[in-house]
Amino acid sequence: MNENLDGMNITDILHHMGEHNLPVNAVAPPIFQNSIFCFDSYDAFHEALMHESEHYIYSRGNNPTVNLCEEKIAALEHTEKAKLVSSGVAAISCAVMAFMKQGDHAVCISSAYSWANYLFRTYLKRFGVETTFVEGSNIEDFEQAIRPNTKVIYLESPATFTFTLQPLREVAELAKKHGIKTVIDNTWATPLFQNPYDMGIDLVVHSASKYLGGNSDIVGGVVCGSKEDITRIFNTEFLMQGQVPDPFMAWLILRNLRTLHLRMPVHYRNALGLAEFLEARDDVENVNYPLLPSFPQYELAKKQMRGGSGLFSFRLKTRDYEKIRRITDRVKFFKLAVSWGGYESLFEPTNLVYKNAADIPEDRMSLIRVHAGLEDLELLKEDLSQALDSVR
Ligand SMILES: *Cc1c(COP(=O)(O)O)cnc(C)c1O
Repeated sequence: MNENLDGMNITDILHHMGEHNLPVNAVAPPIFQNSIFCFDSYDAFHEALMHESEHYIYSRGNNPTVNLCEEKIAALEHTEKAKLVSSGVAAISCAVMAFMKQGDHAVCISSAYSWANYLFRTYLKRFGVETTFVEGSNIEDFEQAIRPNTKVIYLESPATFTFTLQPLREVAELAKKHGIKTVIDNTWATPLFQNPYDMGIDLVVHSASKYLGGNSDIVGGVVCGSKEDITRIFNTEFLMQGQVPDPFMAWLILRNLRTLHLRMPVHYRNALGLAEFLEARDDVENVNYPLLPSFPQYELAKKQMRGGSGLFSFRLKTRDYEKIRRITDRVKFFKLAVSWGGYESLFEPTNLVYKNAADIPEDRMSLIRVHAGLEDLELLKEDLSQALDSVR
């Protein structure tokens, strides 16, 4: 486990950073639940209005509870700055849109999160931005896709449906050579297990609704990067789009971050344990978990990440729709729900998004996404075992 982040101990970041002079020696930071901040003089008021990103004026811009949360996440990601926003999708859209204008071109991996995919495939198209989609496992995919007007390369490594990785150092090097901004969704690995900024990626986004929140009780997002890039996002997108993070949401992230370094190794151990258990069964076709030695990009995963999180997928040998339904109804400890990143284990057949069983493509029929939570591993194995055995 990486205890030392740039010489700063993770406990320092999570437990002490920015919390030394709290009012009345409170052990937890207060929630600044106010919309406006007051000034002592004309000059102070004027100075703040001239540099909104550096001052407390109005809570659509900065807020002390929100800023403390940003400071800690930036330290975890090894970036100069971070901006908390109202959702992961807001983080993706403001990071990308700050660097795109009419006539520009983008490169996006084909397995990106659904709303990131929509942003490039549909939304940006309305404003004259074209996108080339690439599989992205090899640097050649990116070399062939970039054009003179390419401004953004969008990555998600590992991607949270296929679990495929992109070679981050090589992509960053290529992009820098051509003056292209790189944006990565790092939600899966968390800053504990992967720091893309250290590999040369410009902007790192997270859905804080997953592990940073960690308790399935908030929706939030964050963008991390250089002071210059984050200030640009603040001024050109954030203030105008109004993707305001609620101070209470920021406070819940601050509270839940205190256990990030304790939760993640358990998600890792449980996911790996379940992945190995499933891989050994004769009714399972394959398991997609980047830290499993049989994973095609295992070596790259070990090079880019210090560990893995709780989300993975597996494919059963059967293509029988009724069997998938029956297994789903049989699991007891796994909850049936979307999303992931909380304390709880989840079970989600990927064929659920099709209206009719007849529309389900062959490669989706028996592909199941699992989130390994923090429960006892043996209990989880037994639960999957009895559910899978019920249709043998
Ligand atoms: C959930 C998720 C998002 C979107 O985050 P929200 O907080 O739900 O807006 C983005 N990327 C990935 C990989 C996700 O899993």
